[in-house]
Amino acid sequence: MQDHTEQETMDTKKLINIANQRLLKVTERPEIVMERGEGMYLFDTEGKRYLDFIGGWAVNSLGHSPKVLTEVLARQAEKLINASPAFYNRPMLEYADLLLSHCCFDRVFFTSTGAEANEGAVKLARKYGKLKKDGASEIITTWHSFHGRTLAMMAATGKEQWQKLFEPTPGGFIKATFNDLESVKKVVGPATCAIMVEPVQGEGGVYSAAPEFIEGLRELCDREKILLIFDEVQTGMGRTGKLFCYEHYGIEPDIMSLGKGIGGGFPLAALLAKEELNIFEAGDQGGTYTAQPLAMAVGYAVLRELLDKNLVEHCRRMGALIQEKLEAISTHTEIHHIRGKGLLLAFDLASTPAPDLVGRCLQDGLLLNAPKPASIRLIPPLIVSEDDIDQCLAILLKHLA
Ligand SMILES: *Cc1c(COP(=O)(O)O)cnc(C)c1O
Repeated sequence: MQDHTEQETMDTKKLINIANQRLLKVTERPEIVMERGEGMYLFDTEGKRYLDFIGGWAVNSLGHSPKVLTEVLARQAEKLINASPAFYNRPMLEYADLLLSHCCFDRVFFTSTGAEANEGAVKLARKYGKLKKDGASEIITTWHSFHGRTLAMMAATGKEQWQKLFEPTPGGFIKATFNDLESVKKVVGPATCAIMVEPVQGEGGVYSAAPEFIEGLRELCDREKILLIFDEVQTGMGRTGKLFCYEHYGIEPDIMSLGKGIGGGFPLAALLAKEELNIFEAGDQGGTYTAQPLAMAVGYAVLRELLDKNLVEHCRRMGALIQEKLEAISTHTEIHHIRGKGLLLAFDLASTPAPDLVGRCLQDGLLLNAPKPASIRLIPPLIVSEDDIDQCLAILLKHLA
């Protein structure tokens, strides 16, 4: 056994060796070990600084280790880390009340990950189908959507290459084409209990739902008594320049899932529903870490901060500014098809492969994400400043054709 101090001083090479020999391989990662975060920056074990326009995958909405979160975590940890899912706890109730008073929903169930929240949404929709729609159990989702990595959510996700992975795959998910109402209508039938969409497809490359598509889905769902589920794991909590993305469309979904930015980096997600869907019976839904007090205290602090600091408005302004500056750059570089809402943005590259650009920017201390081979996505913390944006674009510009 190595003692604690020895572990703390282990050099980067040793750490990378451990990574190569000890971790179950799931993805390629650069030979960098992150050690510390502060605001818009991450620092690796060599002390190199990275301007972070990934923000933990649209997660660190308040930046890295903001004081409000380090303080609330310390305070709550001293008071109560875990009571048990069998009891209410104070932050759970205070947070549920605050969250629901800022959206169109009446009821909430807290989980730790977005996939889990979506699984809950599917359970709730199937329960509704059983009770109110002759046992209807099918859920329509869209191609190029992303709903998480549990077996059922991989089946719900619209990635072609996931459809046959880890067979037998859970059934009951029917695919339609995003932004094509007719393709949805074609697969609606007596067995349909819900339609689940992301209002902006995030992992799919940042494609916004057209207003007519969402309005059409709402009408279709009302007419056929089908539930409309919004997966707002990536788009919720201010990311698109509204507190929730459904607000852009002037409609209300029946069920919504939240994740990522809701915990500012702490594992937290939520399943929200209208009063009529308060239909789970004891035993239907639960979880060891549901409404975990640390997560609840953090969730409360994140939302309070978004509201008190007017971060949603700030996000809208900074998003518009990035789009404007990218449009200017696009006149003399390979950048085109600039798109997105708020601080969920993307653009395409005409010649440089996106992963190559990501690699070169990483060398230069800028973190970017390539959701597709020719697309770059920008999902910085909502606290990003104009100065951060200028620095990001200056590095980017160096590497564009
Ligand atoms: C990230 C994401 C998920 C999955 O969330 P996890 O916390 O990784 O389980 C689900 N839906 C959308 C839209 C996402 O972006």
